[in-house]
Amino acid sequence: MEQEVDVAVIGAGAMGATAALWLARGGMRTALIDRGEICREASGVNAGTLTLHMTRAALIPYAMKGRELWLDAQRWLGRDVGARSAPGFSLAFTEAEEEMLFKRADARSAMGAPIRIVTPEEVRAIEPGINPAVRAAAFCALDGHVTAYLTGRAYRAALTEAGVSLLEGHGVEGIEVSDAGYVIRPAGAPALRARRLVLAGGVWLETMLAWLGFHVRIKCLVNQLVVTERMRPVMRSVVGIANGLLSLKQFENGTVLIGGGWQGKGDPVRGGVEPIPDNLIGNIQLARHAIPALGETRVVRIWLGLESETADAMPMIGPLPGLAEAYVIGCVHSGYTSAPYMGHLLAERILGREPELPLFDPARLMKPAPAKLEETA
Ligand SMILES: Cc1cc2nc3c(=O)[nH]c(=O)nc-3n(C[C@H](O)[C@H](O)[C@H](O)COP(=O)(O)OP(=O)(O)OC[C@H]3O[C@@H](n4cnc5c(N)ncnc54)[C@H](O)[C@@H]3O)c2cc1C
Repeated sequence: MEQEVDVAVIGAGAMGATAALWLARGGMRTALIDRGEICREASGVNAGTLTLHMTRAALIPYAMKGRELWLDAQRWLGRDVGARSAPGFSLAFTEAEEEMLFKRADARSAMGAPIRIVTPEEVRAIEPGINPAVRAAAFCALDGHVTAYLTGRAYRAALTEAGVSLLEGHGVEGIEVSDAGYVIRPAGAPALRARRLVLAGGVWLETMLAWLGFHVRIKCLVNQLVVTERMRPVMRSVVGIANGLLSLKQFENGTVLIGGGWQGKGDPVRGGVEPIPDNLIGNIQLARHAIPALGETRVVRIWLGLESETADAMPMIGPLPGLAEAYVIGCVHSGYTSAPYMGHLLAERILGREPELPLFDPARLMKPAPAKLEETA
């Protein structure tokens, strides 16, 4: 039998799950559908760095709010996701990196990030393990990290408590648009009729938007991550390099997570990922250059995950043009950091309230509007 809901959210990553949670708490009958398990794609395999250094300047106010929410997850999500506050460094070892560092730090502090330039002596006083060859560094007291694989478990419990109909393991392959809203037929589950629709498919948003006649190119980044065996404490901050090619931190259990967007191979449509060994080696060498003590440890595991990006590298969060009550959320740079805030902002908009900060109009990426929608508008 068909189930009727006020809103159907397709894609249960951190973006869709957060939006669904606040929509249900706002009184809407909400269904959240994913073809796999909740938060097992980008939102469960990411590096979990809560970072202002690496966030695009325009997104700093959103990332600062998102970071606070992760640190306070016990209060609003009801569960701890291993979020820890830690200072963060962006380092420069070359003249070119130094120039980049100053520019990036200026742009981010102009947007409210508490980032300041520190001398190599100050760097070593705060984080003695950093390579003494460092020329300059930017420091931010407000970085941190989360244990990303705990995200799904925490959201599943919170969503269930909020009364969300959670359909995991039920892929969607298309949507019917009718006068009364949207009909969704998740594989292996009864059809859903929804007055409102939210697409939250991460790197699969290109496919989802095409169901409704929108053609938006979504770039897929295939990020590789490396984790080491447990070792003695060698760092307490989150360490990156000005060129953005390193993100490094040590967890309480002694393992060190090395990332920075070094690319592997993968295809979101056909599926499957494959590492590029030279890129793994480059990433590890850079990590070892930043924190020389990492030479004492060994790699135990690597994995890959898919991250989405629009043509202008800015998010898509807001209503879809020409359709009643259909929305999209995704493609947020440093999206894990901001997800709890971005999802809440969209839920506020759908609930008819004024979002605290502006959304990111998807229509800018959709010109000219698809013929099908012009006809119905
Ligand atoms: C390896 C890696 C490292 C990263 N590191 C960081 C970091 O340190 N800090 C940071 O802030 N950000 C980081 N990010 C970015 C961050 O993880 C993402 O921006 C964020 O998790 C995206 O969330 P999302 O909900 O939009 O997408 P996703 O988490 O990918 O969720 C999309 C969901 O849609 C579902 N779906 C797709 N197609 C269908 C369909 N047809 N039917 C039903 N469901 C469907 C998928 O199964 C998936 O669960 C990283 C990303 C990666 C991949």
